[in-house]
Amino acid sequence: SGASLQKEESTESKDGQGFKGHDMLAPFTAGWQTTDVHPLVIEKSEGSYVYDTNGKKYLDSLAGLWCTALGGNEPRLVNAAVAQLNSLPFYHSFWNRTTKPSLDLAKELLETFTARKMAKAFFTNSGSEANDTQVKLVWYYNNALGRPEKKKFIARAKSYHGSTLIAASLSGLPALHQKFDLPAPFVLHTDCPHYWRYHLPGETEEEFSTRLANNLENLILKEGPETIAAFIAEPVMGAGGVIPPPATYFDKVQAVVKKYDILFIADEVICAFGRLGTMYGCDKYNIKPDLVSVAKALSSAYMPIGAVMVSPEVSDVIHSQSNKLGSFSHGFTYSGHPVSCAVAIEALKIYKERNIPEQVNRIAPKFQDGLKAFSDSPIIGEIRGTGLILGTEFADNKSPNDPFPPEWGIGAYFGVQCEKRGMLVRVAGDNIMMSPPFIMTPEEIDELIRIYGEALKATEERVKELKSQ
Ligand code: PMP
Repeated sequence: SGASLQKEESTESKDGQGFKGHDMLAPFTAGWQTTDVHPLVIEKSEGSYVYDTNGKKYLDSLAGLWCTALGGNEPRLVNAAVAQLNSLPFYHSFWNRTTKPSLDLAKELLETFTARKMAKAFFTNSGSEANDTQVKLVWYYNNALGRPEKKKFIARAKSYHGSTLIAASLSGLPALHQKFDLPAPFVLHTDCPHYWRYHLPGETEEEFSTRLANNLENLILKEGPETIAAFIAEPVMGAGGVIPPPATYFDKVQAVVKKYDILFIADEVICAFGRLGTMYGCDKYNIKPDLVSVAKALSSAYMPIGAVMVSPEVSDVIHSQSNKLGSFSHGFTYSGHPVSCAVAIEALKIYKERNIPEQVNRIAPKFQDGLKAFSDSPIIGEIRGTGLILGTEFADNKSPNDPFPPEWGIGAYFGVQCEKRGMLVRVAGDNIMMSPPFIMTPEEIDELIRIYGEALKATEERVKELKSQ
């Protein structure tokens, strides 16, 4: 299988010295991997590269987990953290006590969002906590409005919104539900907007979007609009395989949710701060959300931090009803952690000074066109992406209906070929994902394309070999 192939290759290439296993219950890792396969231990980072404990250098095509937007050694972020640690390493933000970095970051962050006005920011430590917070905020809001039945959420198949109980429920990936007794009953899933995989014969992108918006409306009507509180979507779906929306999709979906007084939550955890060549995914697709989740590039991942931004309409209800409802009794010890906030303030400053969306637009064509040139490969079904995010899906005969046998482990094989040649990619089944740091140079993109091409050639050979057996 793909996993055991990874095991063979990994033990062969990295270990051979009687690995005894390690002691972490590791996230998104199979138990047998922690005992049988030497983990790749990363020790140092520099620009777009990371180094393992053997000193081997890798081009980090995923920017950590879609997050180290400013690369591996931005001194201004380090200095911002050190300065804050020296003056005030911690104070909380409960009971109307807070710190200056959290107040300043709230102001700065709200100013970066211009698709519509946002009134308030709530800080979390992660994207998952941001999306859990969204659900509680929406429930609190509907309770304040005296409509306790309006509590269900609609998310999309193949979405990723995090791995805490509620965020995993919102996510539309079976692996996050199976064996965890999820999703929670108040979460419904509607279609994944992946045109290549799901369009009907002869259906245009626009017609596909219309059909999906109709399906969404039918789901709302079937459940009863008075029971549906919010719809959540990533502007470009990330972990589900990098799926940009089909033409007119967000216009049509927004019209439906608006019609039934359903809040729109934009999960911008991957897309925000320039990755798509616009400051937010909402700017690119003309989305006017009620609530926004961010994390990852907010601090370029140098410190954990996420945030929820709240529209004036939602925040006004929460404020005007606070005498009746009492305090907003939700928060984390580290909500608005001053060190995380200080780093995020510096990251936002850098994005502004360097005009990051423009910088991304300058290098994105090289990245997109260079990789999409491999679309003709007989083992590639589709290459898709925009800005600095790209997904490759392996398939036979260019068809979504002809996947390679999972036991062939084609995606895993490609991943190992990249790793051998000094590049890290994200592998999920036969999907390969990349989201390089914003600072990647044209020369580094050339290197990325070269390694991708070599790994692809090796994988094509492998498929030939497997087919002939
Ligand atoms: N939303 C999206 C769109 C994400 O990609 C992720 C993380 N990959 C999350 C939420 C969850 O963020 P975290 O891992 O920080 O909890």
